[in-house]
Amino acid sequence: MQIGDYKLHAVQTGLFKLDGGAMFGVVPKNLWQKTNPADSLNRIDMCTRALLLDNGKRKILIDTGVGYKLSEKVNKIYDIDFSDYTLEKSLERLKVKKDDITDVILTHLHFDHAGGSTYYDAENRLRINFPNATYHVQRKQYEWALNPTERDRASFFPENYKPLEDNKVLKLIDGEIQFDELITLLPVNGHTSSMQLVKISDGSNTMLYTADLIPTAGHVPAPYIMGYDLFPLTTLEEKHKYLKDISRNKWSVFLEHDPHNECAKIEFSQKGYFISDRFKLS
Ligand SMILES: [Zn+2]
Repeated sequence: MQIGDYKLHAVQTGLFKLDGGAMFGVVPKNLWQKTNPADSLNRIDMCTRALLLDNGKRKILIDTGVGYKLSEKVNKIYDIDFSDYTLEKSLERLKVKKDDITDVILTHLHFDHAGGSTYYDAENRLRINFPNATYHVQRKQYEWALNPTERDRASFFPENYKPLEDNKVLKLIDGEIQFDELITLLPVNGHTSSMQLVKISDGSNTMLYTADLIPTAGHVPAPYIMGYDLFPLTTLEEKHKYLKDISRNKWSVFLEHDPHNECAKIEFSQKGYFISDRFKLS
């Protein structure tokens, strides 16, 4: 897919699993298991799908996956699986080197979105994974991530983002901005403080990277909100706002966490919002 002079490429960085109950909050299992069947430990299939935007001058990566710094114990809890996909293999397929990435837009700093931003080298030193890139994060999200609450601190690992500041490659953003002519960063606050959605639009064609606002196709109905969200009623308002924009203006959405559905079109009927088309970028 091409929008303006940007080519869009999905970058599948790996698979993992999360508790289905936590992923669907107050929605009963007999409803969510229709779209997201659970394993014997009640976990549903998830992935961490980044998006690469390439206009020949700039190569922008949106989110970086889980990375390889988690402990054995945490890897096991989330069944983190790199056997089919890794960030490296997916970039290689696109003939893109890590050095080529000019910008990384992090939607937020939860480990499954920002973990691939840094790595430990052979001497166990923390390194920046995309050495020539500027990393873009909302200031309020960065401040939150440095001092999370007891409820959400299990999702924030400073080794994923503190080195970005220490190495002066972190650019903090205040609120909604026009990143360039085609890209807009749109903060939302229900999931965590200032998660940013990424809108790529040339006026006639629009793609919205919905991050954890609509993580899988199963989360399209407005009240299907994750238990992880800090402010679920804010999420509900934000979902209504964006679902309206998406369906009325025929935007496409890019589903970061859905291993079976890469992109979708969404429409509205009397029963609510539903997926009218599923497709892949290539
Ligand atoms: Zn998240």
